[in-house]
Amino acid sequence: MAGINTNNRVKTAVFKFTCCAGCQFALLYFFDQLPETLELLDFVYFKMARRKELDEPYDLALIEGGISTPEHIEQLKRIRKQAKILVAFGACAAHGGVPSIKDWQRELAVEARVYPDPLLISSIKVSPVDEFVKVDHYLRGCPIDEVEFMELIRSIAAGKKPYIREHPVCVECKLRNNICILLMREGVQESMCLGPVTRAGCRAVCTSNMRACFGCRGPMSNPNIPEMVRTFKGKGFSPKDIEMRFTEYSGLSNEFSEGARAYYGRKAPYYRRKAA
Ligand code: SF4
Ligand code: SF4
Ligand code: SF4
Repeated sequence: MAGINTNNRVKTAVFKFTCCAGCQFALLYFFDQLPETLELLDFVYFKMARRKELDEPYDLALIEGGISTPEHIEQLKRIRKQAKILVAFGACAAHGGVPSIKDWQRELAVEARVYPDPLLISSIKVSPVDEFVKVDHYLRGCPIDEVEFMELIRSIAAGKKPYIREHPVCVECKLRNNICILLMREGVQESMCLGPVTRAGCRAVCTSNMRACFGCRGPMSNPNIPEMVRTFKGKGFSPKDIEMRFTEYSGLSNEFSEGARAYYGRKAPYYRRKAA
């Protein structure tokens, strides 16, 4: 990868914006599971793991969380200037994630549920990182997957292009010989599965445990969203159910936003701009 000295460990900084910090937390587990991969990284800033302040340069920035204040935007732009490689780390950074549910509602109404005086809050709509800066790589999922993390870090350290999965979760689901819970409507409570339009890479962890895919990894390449909506509709799911399923994790993506709007025909809460 351009600019990284592959003879040394990759100087890495981990930054958190609006999210639950679960992806950073997953990293701590990886120290047990993937010690050889983490050996490739030199964490110069990782607040959850080390008390050290950011006082030295870094090559790789792992960005966790969505952007939801004007200060976030400025900080993110500063990080982009410093980092040779910037990774959107988890569903919140890649697609807005769970915090972006608020984008589908009126800003003040959402804030009033939490803060006594919402006018004191400088919060703005939640956006994925690539709304404001160029992203070099995405590690999707809520939380990130250890195998994908390992693949990406080894690719970066070796200066190679990482493997990108374009296919749907259904492929991984069928490879695991799972019974399809989208087809089994009767007797299964959660069968509103987004696997046919969601990008693979999680090894179908939810559907292998009889849980519907919620689309946390965002849209696959070229998904057929109108057909997915028609399928849900044909199975009797309500407009609200469909809207909620498409907006739970990746509703800010153009594709899932289309699915969420399918019933109501209302304008998306959000229009993607190209990163500067
Ligand atoms: S992607 Fe999920 S686990 Fe990761 S920070 Fe966001 S909400 Fe937490
Ligand atoms: S359960 Fe979901 S992910 Fe698995 S095959 Fe059926 S639709 Fe696809
Ligand atoms: S099955 Fe769907 S919701 Fe579950 S981890 Fe995979 S992409 Fe995310």
